[in-house]
Amino acid sequence: MSGRVTVLTGGVGGAKLVLGLMQVCPPDTISAIVNTGDDFRHLGLAISPDIDTLLYTLSGRANAAQGWGREGETWTFMDALKSLHGEDWFLLGDGDMALHVLRSHLLTSGETLSAVTARFAAAWELALRILPMSDDPVATHIETDRGDLPFQRYFVEQRCIPAVRAVRFEGAAGARPAPGVIEAINDPDTRAILIAPSNPWLSVDPILAVPGISEALAAASAPVVAVSPIVGGQAVKGPTAKLMGELGLAVTNEAIADHYAGIIDGLLVDERDGGKGLAVPHAVTDTLMKTLEDRARVAMAALDLADRIAG
Ligand code: GDP
Repeated sequence: MSGRVTVLTGGVGGAKLVLGLMQVCPPDTISAIVNTGDDFRHLGLAISPDIDTLLYTLSGRANAAQGWGREGETWTFMDALKSLHGEDWFLLGDGDMALHVLRSHLLTSGETLSAVTARFAAAWELALRILPMSDDPVATHIETDRGDLPFQRYFVEQRCIPAVRAVRFEGAAGARPAPGVIEAINDPDTRAILIAPSNPWLSVDPILAVPGISEALAAASAPVVAVSPIVGGQAVKGPTAKLMGELGLAVTNEAIADHYAGIIDGLLVDERDGGKGLAVPHAVTDTLMKTLEDRARVAMAALDLADRIAG
């Protein structure tokens, strides 16, 4: 089968699927549309956590054991910052700093986030297209029992402990899809549009909140298939299951399918949960991505489901 593949993704969970896709499709046929709702300014720097997770993971630079940041990182900057009593709740390794400093400089010089991201991907010889969802700022805010928290305060500083009441995406209503985003969804040569098993509420919803993107997905001629983040009635990692409970939802694939109703044509679910009760077309497999082979297998299963739906 040939054709392009477009994938909507957040950070760590999404990067696993994108890395798997790169094993089963020519990388230059893949477009990844990335959440930028987690982006924030810190110490004057423009930080794009999900874009950076993709850049590090796909170029073999990620610290897989830690689950964030770079392999072989050093911490001279952070130690010096602490000695000066600077804010130290968000860890910035020395190598990581290079991205943030250069991105901040280029943005200040008038370059767009898409152009900066393409520049970094090219420098690290990544052939896939990494597209921020928007070049306009969108900021995820979490309304919690401890008040309104910008995303990184909730996620990193408060370690997702506050109970979530609602999530909102500041700036989304006025944001435009970045160049290439709608084109990647509408491209008639597209074999499948995948939604990675990223957190639907925190990582995928910000992308869907950019006007034009969910409309394009709903109207796309290519099948849209999501990979469920639920494995064995739980999230593999992170706050997805806790957040679903706090929003009054059962941690089930039916809730994931309902969440994406009108957008997806199919859902890939884990064999531990099965597809019982699912009205949407689905396939069942082991979706736990521990090894590179697992990642490729899950990517292939998602593409197979898309091919089956396309007929
Ligand atoms: P973040 O932006 O770094 O928080 O990461 P994402 O939003 O991209 O991914 C977090 C989600 O990925 C969680 O809901 C996890 O359940 C899911 N996830 C992580 N690893 C796996 C996996 O191996 N298989 C599946 N099915 N889901 C996973």
